[in-house]
Amino acid sequence: LLSADGTTVPTIFAEMSALAASTGAINLGQGFPDEDGPAPVLDAARKAIADGVNQYAPGRGFPDLLAAVAEHQKRFYGIKLDPAREVLITVGATEALASTLLALIDGPTDEVVVFEPYYDSYAACVALAGATLVPVPLRWPDFQPDLEQFAAAVTDRTRVILVNDPHNPTGTVFSREVLDEVVRLAHQHDAIIVTDEVYEHLVFDGPHVPIATLPGAAERTLTISSAGKTFSLTGWKTGWVTGPADLVTAVLAVKQYLTYVGGSPFQPAIATGLRLPDEFFASVASEMAAKAALLGTGLRAAGFDVSTPAGSYFTVVDAAPLGATDADAFCRELPARAGVVGIPLTAFVTPAHRDDYATLVRFAACKRVEVLEEAAERLAGMS
Ligand code: PMP
Ligand code: GLN
Repeated sequence: LLSADGTTVPTIFAEMSALAASTGAINLGQGFPDEDGPAPVLDAARKAIADGVNQYAPGRGFPDLLAAVAEHQKRFYGIKLDPAREVLITVGATEALASTLLALIDGPTDEVVVFEPYYDSYAACVALAGATLVPVPLRWPDFQPDLEQFAAAVTDRTRVILVNDPHNPTGTVFSREVLDEVVRLAHQHDAIIVTDEVYEHLVFDGPHVPIATLPGAAERTLTISSAGKTFSLTGWKTGWVTGPADLVTAVLAVKQYLTYVGGSPFQPAIATGLRLPDEFFASVASEMAAKAALLGTGLRAAGFDVSTPAGSYFTVVDAAPLGATDADAFCRELPARAGVVGIPLTAFVTPAHRDDYATLVRFAACKRVEVLEEAAERLAGMS
């Protein structure tokens, strides 16, 4: 996690956002919206501060937010949870992932199977926990895993199968066949399923299918989500873990020493958000689908090969038709050539596999329509 000279290596997101800021380029790199979330949620946070919700929350989270998470899982997926025992509030999905992996992993012989490319914190947390990451490749352009390759990667050493659906960085939503195979292999090898579903309300042609709803899955699945994407409040860093009480308690055992708790006034506000009417959640998905379509059209017009995302904030392109041979170099030059920032997919893979993703770039669609239009125009005029 440190470079050879002992300095910290910034994450690709920090690096590319800094590049956008210093060049004035449109930032389609780091995935954060350029509009804030729903007014009732923002108002609820202000009210919570004014009402004195400013001291430490209980370790698991305020009971009202625990109840709101449980109600949300019931309303959208029919999942029944005991809010007092089967829900834990965390500092974003990031802390949920870190404390879950630290809690579940016993030592260096444990393996974590993950689809590659993967969100950058996965490999870092597996390394922090001292386990071995076993990547299973997702290939351009549909990014569904080969089931035989997946089955071969899962063994009795597998402690965790770590899934992210909808998927960052590819925008893929896994087929039912893949999800069934996750559950089957977890049973066969007695592994725990950890599923990161932060983009659960960003499935364009829904409904979202949580792994925990599959037959035989709930008893061995920890589901992670967060308010960041659903409510366009990525800076609030409020997430949650749900699942069997004993597993959630194990996660709490770690979490209490990482941060103890997150920011109190956000919790009642997110409870308000989780109780918004169905129409709000439907509009989150339909608006992002429209933005992804707009971005896709712009990217195609600029000459990229474009994969079609089924969810999430992201669209992956192949820059090879534009002459790129190294997406990393291409992304570093893009602000000067086109005034736009994207993220090379090589940032999401193990170094040994970089060549397999050498010309692929991720662009984020979670920006205002006029910003996406301006980005498309700039890319079309690329030098
Ligand atoms: N998982 C995935 C797949 C993500 O894309 C992100 C980031 N946006 C996170 C986890 C982290 O979420 P949070 O900001 O809630 O910590
Ligand atoms: N999840 C966001 C993305 O993939 C970034 C979050 C971060 O900067 N760590 O772009």
